[in-house]
Amino acid sequence: MSIAENLDKIVREVPARVKIVAVSKTRSVDEIMEAYNAGQRIFGENKAQELIYKQPLLPADIRWHFLGHLQTNKVKQIIPFVSLIHSLDSIKLLRVIDKEAQNIGRPVNCLLQFHIASEETKFGLDPAEALELVRTMRNEKMQHVVIKGVMGMATYTDDQELIRREFKFLASCFTQLKRDFYPEDKEFSELSFGMSGDYLLAVREGSTMIRIGTSIFGERNPL
Ligand SMILES: *Cc1c(COP(=O)(O)O)cnc(C)c1O
Repeated sequence: MSIAENLDKIVREVPARVKIVAVSKTRSVDEIMEAYNAGQRIFGENKAQELIYKQPLLPADIRWHFLGHLQTNKVKQIIPFVSLIHSLDSIKLLRVIDKEAQNIGRPVNCLLQFHIASEETKFGLDPAEALELVRTMRNEKMQHVVIKGVMGMATYTDDQELIRREFKFLASCFTQLKRDFYPEDKEFSELSFGMSGDYLLAVREGSTMIRIGTSIFGERNPL
């Protein structure tokens, strides 16, 4: 199937309220244009260098999301054109994003990335760390980071029950933060979870934003 057909299939499978992030890491400008021409406007990259390289070569109305670990020394370069950072996972990173966002004079949207997988290697906050991060923002009256919700990556496994439990855990983290810090805040509304292997399950568990690479573009070649 073509990229356009793959996208069309996913669009039909998920409710219209669910945003689809086309994860374009390792994909060429031509492949991204194929998805763009099929109507896709949100693309996700996980390496600052790759995003910086591709962004000027592609249409200006693409909304670029940053997924995956973000080094503090890369923030300045991506911040002018990134529309959502999915991977806010430390107070150190929070401070740098707030400062650089202030420098360019506009707030930057972020999701709090939680560690939900049983694997050790994945980045992310636990609930206590997320609490501390939001408290720090409040206490220091940081004005340039807008927390739009939460993000998580489930364990890479075929065990659907394990994935479901991890998604439920992430949804409960969202609900608790909403109740304690953002009860009146309409901006705090996004749950980013679900990838090629588990997006239908994710949508059933309340995801509002799915991040799909392989199921749109095909298997990735190792770089
Ligand atoms: C690569 C990646 C995805 C997409 O993975 P697929 O399995 O190809 O759909 C989603 N989220 C993050 C953070 C990624 O790095």
